[in-house]
Amino acid sequence: MSNEKRGNFLKVKCLDCDNEQIVFDRAASNVQCIICGKTFVKPLGGKSKITAHIDSVLK
Ligand SMILES: [Zn+2]
Repeated sequence: MSNEKRGNFLKVKCLDCDNEQIVFDRAASNVQCIICGKTFVKPLGGKSKITAHIDSVLK
């Protein structure tokens, strides 16, 4: 079994509407708030830019 890094699931909180949502930090496409549509995650070639408050990292 390889143990390569595959990213983490993050519990984030929307900066605009306080909605809490689970996102993947290596998303292949934009992830948006399901309530207000604010972008949470932008893919940046392998890594992602998180534009929300990160509440916790799920393991
Ligand atoms: Zn929101």
